[in-house]
Amino acid sequence: MSVIFFGVALVLVEGMAGNEKRISIYSPVADYSLNVIDRDGREYVGLLEVLEPIGSVSAKVDHENWKLRFNSIEAQFTNGNAHARVRSKDVDLTARFILDNGRGLVPIDSLVTLLPQFIGIPVVFHVNSRRLFISEAGTTYTAEMNKSTPGKLVLNFSRPVNPSISTEPGKLRMSFLRDPLLPSGPQTVTYNEKEISSTTFQESNGAAELTITGSLPLLASFSNDGRTITIAPAPGAAPAAAPVAQAPALPSTITTAPAAPPLTPSAPPATSRFIVMIDASHGGDERGAALSDTLAEKDVTLAFARRIRQELETRGIPALVLRDGNATLSLDQRTASVNAQHPVLYIAVHAANNSSGVRVYTAMIPPDLGPRGPFLAWDAAQSSSLGISQLSAAVIVTELRKKIPARTLAGPVPPLKNITVPAIAIEVAPQGRDIADLTSPDYQAVVATAIATGLETMKPRLEGRR
Ligand SMILES: [Zn+2]
Repeated sequence: MSVIFFGVALVLVEGMAGNEKRISIYSPVADYSLNVIDRDGREYVGLLEVLEPIGSVSAKVDHENWKLRFNSIEAQFTNGNAHARVRSKDVDLTARFILDNGRGLVPIDSLVTLLPQFIGIPVVFHVNSRRLFISEAGTTYTAEMNKSTPGKLVLNFSRPVNPSISTEPGKLRMSFLRDPLLPSGPQTVTYNEKEISSTTFQESNGAAELTITGSLPLLASFSNDGRTITIAPAPGAAPAAAPVAQAPALPSTITTAPAAPPLTPSAPPATSRFIVMIDASHGGDERGAALSDTLAEKDVTLAFARRIRQELETRGIPALVLRDGNATLSLDQRTASVNAQHPVLYIAVHAANNSSGVRVYTAMIPPDLGPRGPFLAWDAAQSSSLGISQLSAAVIVTELRKKIPARTLAGPVPPLKNITVPAIAIEVAPQGRDIADLTSPDYQAVVATAIATGLETMKPRLEGRR
């Protein structure tokens, strides 16, 4: 059941990001992606759209001519003509200019000569992957196996990054669409570790991709304000079977070999582990509610999420904090990450200052979804898990009420309805009127302990569903 939804969810996440061909442009003022249009067997892009995020631009159509103004620079293009005039200078395009319903389209491989005429600085264009860099300010990274904790790969980035993550047994893929990520060294780096065997950098369709290959289900966690991503085997994942003959320890090797080693066929499926994912809602640029003049919701949610993880781990329940740092993560990224990693329970943590105690939400799913189109199925991803979600919420509230006010609610709290596994959202408010409760370790402990105790009770039920 959840497997079916899993497939639907992934397809749609891709669809949202655009299955279409796209070009990504990285500049000091904005990083953005545009759709690419195929004409005459070539790839075109709207020039106005290319320039819009980086300056003041306008265009008007005069018969077959398209007159463009970018900041103080005038340019003229003519429908069907491969020559343009920019600042009274002739510029050759690689193919004819197309005027399409008032929209000016240029061949994308002309951008490398055209753009410098407007912005005055050279650009670097990775033509095959359609990634265009204005200025050299790309994001670089290092990838290192953590020597003290074997099987942990630490990726450090020169700037905060915001990839979308997908997993399959033995592979974890991070797709960087809005990040100007540049390769660092060889395309594939292999490690002499049985848990994680290689990292591969690739670029295609406007995005850079890092693929981590291993012998166990892998999880990614963010820290250091989105500058560090740590890849580790999922907690509770069975260790790989010991090889018949243990190879002698060798230093990690770097190679440009074309392929990563084949996946271990006995890698356990992604569904075979018991883990709770706790999502510290909001984060990064998205601060959530201002709970007081100085207190942002994103910081409170992270503190509670970590405390809940600690309480669960104390009880032998593996737990992961989805945003373990100050990264900006979209709801789609959170949803894709959860649906790909199949935890037994997803808990989104929110905080509020206008109520008291704790509200535990489950998804509100409209009773009649009409025709079962794929989009509606996506909106109802939670329906097959709703019963167990509601039961988990009720058990947690029973525990909470022993100490503080608490109640269950059904509500349109994103992204609950898009999560395939059991999912709840917890909104923590002060016990009474004192906002200081939210940062009090004692109050955090009361809430986290009750949630963990409730989940301990629920463990056989959650486990039985797998
Ligand atoms: Zn919130």
